[in-house]
Amino acid sequence: MKQLLVTTMLLLGIAATAQPSVEYVGGERPTTRDYTRIVCKTEPGATATVNGTAAHVYKTGCFGAQVALAEGDNNIVVEATKDGRTTSKTVTVTRTAKGDAKPADTPVMRDVLFTVETLPGAFLQYGNGTDRLGGSKMGYIDEGIALKVVGDYANLYKVQLSSQRFAYVQKENVKPSDATVKQVNTGSISYSDKGKYDRVTVSLPCRLPYHAWTQIDPTTICVDIFGAMNNSNWISQHGTLGMVDYVDFSQVDSDVFRVVIKLKKKYAWGYEVRYQGNYLTIDVKHTPSLNLKDLTIGLDAGHGGSAPGAIGHSGLTESTINLQLVNLVKQQLEAKGAKVVLSRSDDSSISMTERKRVFKDAGVDIMFAIHNNSGGSPFEPQGSSTYYKHITNRALAATMLKHLLGCGHKDAGLTGNFNFSLNMPTEYPNALLEVLYMSSLPDEEMLCDPAHCKKIASAIVAGLEDYLNQVKQEK
Ligand SMILES: [Zn+2]
Repeated sequence: MKQLLVTTMLLLGIAATAQPSVEYVGGERPTTRDYTRIVCKTEPGATATVNGTAAHVYKTGCFGAQVALAEGDNNIVVEATKDGRTTSKTVTVTRTAKGDAKPADTPVMRDVLFTVETLPGAFLQYGNGTDRLGGSKMGYIDEGIALKVVGDYANLYKVQLSSQRFAYVQKENVKPSDATVKQVNTGSISYSDKGKYDRVTVSLPCRLPYHAWTQIDPTTICVDIFGAMNNSNWISQHGTLGMVDYVDFSQVDSDVFRVVIKLKKKYAWGYEVRYQGNYLTIDVKHTPSLNLKDLTIGLDAGHGGSAPGAIGHSGLTESTINLQLVNLVKQQLEAKGAKVVLSRSDDSSISMTERKRVFKDAGVDIMFAIHNNSGGSPFEPQGSSTYYKHITNRALAATMLKHLLGCGHKDAGLTGNFNFSLNMPTEYPNALLEVLYMSSLPDEEMLCDPAHCKKIASAIVAGLEDYLNQVKQEK
């Protein structure tokens, strides 16, 4: 016992007098810029300097400064002091001259003419551009739809939807087809209440490509059917409907037929367009019970497994903190009686397709994707931002942002028409929440604080409740 005490004291004694660690964790090097934002990590509670100037040490142990660079090698001296002991480290950052940017290889469009048929998971793109989120999506379309290919461009086919309208489709999402793409006449159109949703049915002689989108003020779902000529001489309505006010149609071009579905309510709860045989069906969800205990909430923890997402300077990975936040939100929602469906509950790699399948199969009423961002100066708070694709989800994303900002986060803005895969589903309202920035030292400090994470989870739950109340108050 006595020996153990001596050993413990000895260990503590060694720990108290050990040199503080200093680890270089961030800053571009080499760089072509005339400055670097150097970030180092020491032990929490230490003091630090960068080139002799005091730097704030966050509770994560991170500190740093923006340092001007001369051309060539720049030696930056970083020091950390704890318990009277100082560790000094020199970090060399090389500033190189700006090289001539290599022109990117531009793919060439080849004229071709043949027919393909869509496979499950196919979507149409407006153009052949791309960025980190992929080409801008018009929307997903059902399988078994014949498309006339008129151009071959890298991994895309250019397809002709109508005499005036073109789109692009990923080659991997189609297969060769013997079908002939031709203009056809529309058949009967009807709509009726099916219980939890209203169904609009358009009869067609074959599966045609379509583009669905929403408008607000008033809330309307529009579906353009390409290659269709109006031969529908009436619209049959059966009984009173739960969500659909009325259905109308118009021939907007000689071969584009538009179905317009005006909703009774301002807040939409999702819709699904697909084929049943050659019948194009548009199922429009009714407003669900607006009590949390009756709702199924989808929560997506971004990244996971081989995709850790952004990594903070202290070493915190985005996939880990996203899952922690999701679990906190789940606990709070379940305590209020809600059913929660997670796309992942451990550190595994899950594709976007799989995440969407989980939520669709579970029939979630609403879904939030939870991420943390990266970018900008590490020395400034960067804050919270929320994202939506479809305009009908704008109010939801705006409400969630308002509540995240209530945690004392900087306002990083509301982003619309966001081309993110989990913002694409139309079957349920959804929003992407970028809670804070992994790359910002003050933001990361908040994420490393368990009490603050609880506060974020409470804000997300309060945001959802606020949104449900807005819907309830609608006259
Ligand atoms: Zn992310």
